[in-house]
Amino acid sequence: SRHTSKRAGDQRISVCVRKRPLTHAESRKGEADVVTTPGGECVIVHEGKEAVDLTQYILQHRFYFDQVFGEDSSNEEVYHRTAYPLVQHIGKATCFAYGQTGAGKTHTMLGSSPRRPGLYALAVRDIFAHLSDTHTYSRLLVYVSFFEIYRGQLYDLLDHRKRLFAREDGQKVVHIAGLRDVRVDSVSSLLEVCELLLYNVNELTVKWCKITKLIKMCMIHVCTRRMWFVDLAGSERASDTKEPDRQSRMEGAEINQSLLALKECIRSLDQEQSHTPFRQSKLTQVLKDSFVGDSMTCMIANISPGHLATEHTLNTLRYADRVK
Ligand code: ADP
Ligand code: MG
Repeated sequence: SRHTSKRAGDQRISVCVRKRPLTHAESRKGEADVVTTPGGECVIVHEGKEAVDLTQYILQHRFYFDQVFGEDSSNEEVYHRTAYPLVQHIGKATCFAYGQTGAGKTHTMLGSSPRRPGLYALAVRDIFAHLSDTHTYSRLLVYVSFFEIYRGQLYDLLDHRKRLFAREDGQKVVHIAGLRDVRVDSVSSLLEVCELLLYNVNELTVKWCKITKLIKMCMIHVCTRRMWFVDLAGSERASDTKEPDRQSRMEGAEINQSLLALKECIRSLDQEQSHTPFRQSKLTQVLKDSFVGDSMTCMIANISPGHLATEHTLNTLRYADRVK
């Protein structure tokens, strides 16, 4: 589908794709790279087999997005063309990383190490730069919070996974009661928080091996202005009905519901709809603010290049295509 911009001149929603490189393990196993990114397009070329006589044929899918990042793009480059305009925006802003587990969402958001930070830290860097440029803002304080959504419930990632509750105030603004916010006064202090987070997250992985089923949210706020970064749960379950046990099926259903609701809410931003279906999941309920008014939204669809992931990759691209 050709990118027809319904929002000519209006960049409130941007939808981007980021392809990661093949990992060493994938290369060693001889996995083929089925994704190319020529001049702003995303092209998938893979083999199919005729059901009847098993003759092979080649299939090609082309997608167009606001931005397409190949495997050579750094976090800095991705940041500059996705979240940076959101940082500059005066109003509300939300940035999502969507995609299959292992496609590069956390690499994009959190980064691979303090020396190679992701979007959270790069945004904080520029918020500080911006604050020190504008005298009137120089006394404003910057706070960050990290929490997760798991099976429709909120847990504070900076406070021993304490259970939290979202409430609407008289102005119908959603607040998360008791959510810990940590003041950051430099990029390095943000990186320290991220490291703490990684440490906790790794512990959780060891404990439950459930890490891919979490939606991880980062909220940066300066005064009353909130900026959200969301590392979504792995999207593969949205299409996978072969989950082994009841518990996993329920988690899968919850994620499925959240990702569907998210798509609908982002789409409604574009359509001047009076009704935004934000009540359909905890994720969209918490992010209610992001779907009304002058907010800016960016979705980064992360994709794996390997041929074994082709189905998931196509599902990710189709989802992103429907959001834009
Ligand atoms: P996800 O959070 O979507 O499950 P990760 O971000 O953990 O995926 O990425 C899976 C693996 O791929 C990690 O080892 C990560 O370091 C690597 N990776 C992801 N994106 C990139 C990239 N753009 N460049 C290099 N390595 C990447
Ligand atoms: Mg991850």
